[in-house]
Amino acid sequence: MPSVFSHAIAAVALGGAAVGGPSRLTIWGLGALCAVVPDLDVVSFHFGLPYDHMLGHRGLSHSLLFAAGLASIMTALLRARTASPGVARLWAFFFLATASHGVLDAMTNGGLGVAFFAPVSDARYFFPWRPIVVSPISIDEFFGPRGLRVMWSELGWVWLPSAVVFLAGRSKWGIGARHWDRREEQP
Ligand SMILES: [Zn+2]
Repeated sequence: MPSVFSHAIAAVALGGAAVGGPSRLTIWGLGALCAVVPDLDVVSFHFGLPYDHMLGHRGLSHSLLFAAGLASIMTALLRARTASPGVARLWAFFFLATASHGVLDAMTNGGLGVAFFAPVSDARYFFPWRPIVVSPISIDEFFGPRGLRVMWSELGWVWLPSAVVFLAGRSKWGIGARHWDRREEQP
């Protein structure tokens, strides 16, 4: 996996490009949470499940179906509580934020591939292009020389593109922000 920070940053970048309005910070934060949640599947190692099991690491929780399910739950929860930017946009953002996790994992140079189509298929996939140095699962290793290599790789392949996407998205919203605020003030 890329580190949790990079997964979160990628989701916030998508949020910057896709979601504006007064509740945007809440929505981006929840998107970042969605992007981190799939790696909770590392608990499967403690239960003795093999890596390549459908419920193992990079299995079902990294699938497109999981992303669709999590997006549906987040959209349903937020819809009633915040001035949100419409159901379709909200769902699409949470779906992409969650699915971005598997996409980034499939671009790493280690571990097993991602079960994008679980539970229909337990086949594991990598993209042909895998420039991201895989992050160690153990926290101890992460704070060693290997962790530095990982962070350097993620700065180039995740943080930099994310910053570009975020800033490009915000400049678009900067033009549209006043329009947003006016729309939401209407009774
Ligand atoms: Zn992962």
